[in-house]
Amino acid sequence: MPNQLIAGNWKMNGLAASIAELDSLIAAPPPAGELLLCPPFTLVSAFAQKARGTHVKIGGQDCHARAHGAHTGDVSAEMLADLGASHVIVGHSERRADHGETDAIVQAKAVAALRAGLVAIVCVGETLAQRDAGQTLDIVARQLKGSLPVNASPENVVVAYEPVWAIGTGRTPTVEQVAEVHASIAAAVGNGTVILYGGSVKPDNAAELLSVPNVHGALVGGASLKAKDFLAIARAREQCVA
Ligand code: PEP
Repeated sequence: MPNQLIAGNWKMNGLAASIAELDSLIAAPPPAGELLLCPPFTLVSAFAQKARGTHVKIGGQDCHARAHGAHTGDVSAEMLADLGASHVIVGHSERRADHGETDAIVQAKAVAALRAGLVAIVCVGETLAQRDAGQTLDIVARQLKGSLPVNASPENVVVAYEPVWAIGTGRTPTVEQVAEVHASIAAAVGNGTVILYGGSVKPDNAAELLSVPNVHGALVGGASLKAKDFLAIARAREQCVA
């Protein structure tokens, strides 16, 4: 059974004062497994300094494929690692949609993450139209093939299955739908790789989603903004593995 991971994606939320939420996470008894928070880039340095030596890890939400250069406004994986980040999310559906990121771009970013010594959290997932058309497994398989680095291993890559239609909507797939996709991902990447479910995970549905076979944790958006809710999700997962 792979390591368990509960990861929080703050997206474009959080100001300097939001470090109080990190303080609460650090002060709470450590949940079993790993706890990772991915604040916006502006907070990575302060959060990583505060979290150093604690049970909370800090990650980035995106990185550029290049290590440095003339790429105004971008941030490299090396810069994130330099600040103390351990992970970086790549290929989130909001970046695929808002920034036109293709599988090839996502793969280049994942390669960059590994080059910098970060764990790449590679996101895949279908739109509602693709699910309704019965294309979910094909879409996810294609995204995995195109987005994962060739040297991906359980040590350097985490896969996050995030149905686009479940992100920030309050809608979640059935446990059968989650089980089907996670089984297909496990078959594609091999046992040992951590596979997260993401999409409207909340304290009240976490136990059910996290007990699905081949679900090794969660990527949590909105509910990760408050330490209380994020910890409740991590505790729900603990009940599943007890
Ligand atoms: C996400 O953005 O990765 C996500 C899963 O968001 P939410 O939990 O808010 O649906």
